[in-house]
Amino acid sequence: MFPKKIILLPLAIAFTVSISLQCSAQKRLRDFNLFTIEDDKAIGMQVSQEIERSPAKFPILPEKGNEEAYKYLRSLMNKLLQSGKVAHAKDFAWQVKIIKDDKTLNAFAVPGGYLYVYTGLIKFLDSEDQLAGVMGHEIAHAALRHSTKQMTKLYGLDAVRQLVTGRKDAKMVEQMALSLASLKFSRKHEAEADEHSVHYLCGSNLNAAGAAGFFKKIKGKEGTPPAFLSTHPDPGNRVKAIEYKAQELNCRGDDTNKAAYDKIKKLLK
Ligand SMILES: [Zn+2]
Repeated sequence: MFPKKIILLPLAIAFTVSISLQCSAQKRLRDFNLFTIEDDKAIGMQVSQEIERSPAKFPILPEKGNEEAYKYLRSLMNKLLQSGKVAHAKDFAWQVKIIKDDKTLNAFAVPGGYLYVYTGLIKFLDSEDQLAGVMGHEIAHAALRHSTKQMTKLYGLDAVRQLVTGRKDAKMVEQMALSLASLKFSRKHEAEADEHSVHYLCGSNLNAAGAAGFFKKIKGKEGTPPAFLSTHPDPGNRVKAIEYKAQELNCRGDDTNKAAYDKIKKLLK
C-alpha cells in the first residue's frame, strides 16, 4: 500500500487543476469569440458595403464637398490609432464615414474597424475632446472585437458557422448590417470601451476624459432618450469612471480645441 501522503498529493493537485480550469473556462465563456480576426475583417467589409448600398437607412454624407469635415474626422481617428494602444491598429481597415442625419445622436462601429458618426452627434457635442472621446469608445468596440463576441453570445455556434462559411444572400447581409448598427453591448463591454477611450487619448494634447463630456451633456438632455443610449446603455456612473481613469493614468492633456470643432460644425450646416 502506498503511504497516504502519496495518494493524497495527486488528488490535491488534480483538485487544484480542475478548479483553476473551471475558473479560466468561466472567464473564457464570458469573453468568448467564435469568430476569427479574419472573420471580423470580412464581416466588416461586407457590412460596410451594405451600408453604402442602403442610403435610405444610412444616408452617408458624400466625401465630395465635405472634404474638410472628413479630413478632420480622419485626423482625429489617426491620433487615436497612433497612440500605440489600439489593438489591430495596423491590420483593421479603420475608416470613418459621416451619416447625414441631424436627428440621431449616435455613432457606431462595425467589426474590422469601420466607424460611423452621425451629423446629429457632431452638432450636439461642444468640442474636439468630446468627439475624440466618443470615437475612442467606438474604436475600442471594434479593436476589442465586442460585436463578434456579442454575436457569439446571441446566436451561438451554428449561426456563426453559417454567417462565416455559408452562402450569404443580400437579405442576410442587410440584416447583419442593421443588427450590427444597433447592437446592444453588455455593461462590461461599455465600461471597457470607456476605459480604453481614456487610454487611447492619454498622452495626447487632448483632454483624455472627453467621453465624460459627452455623457454629461446627454444626461442633461430632455425628451426621448437619444439613440446612443439605446445602443450604449447605463450612463449611470460612467462620467465618474472615465474621469477617475484619466486621473489614475495621470493624463496631462487638457486641450478641447473648441474653435477648430466649431468650424467643422459650421461646415456641416
Ligand atoms: Zn458603446
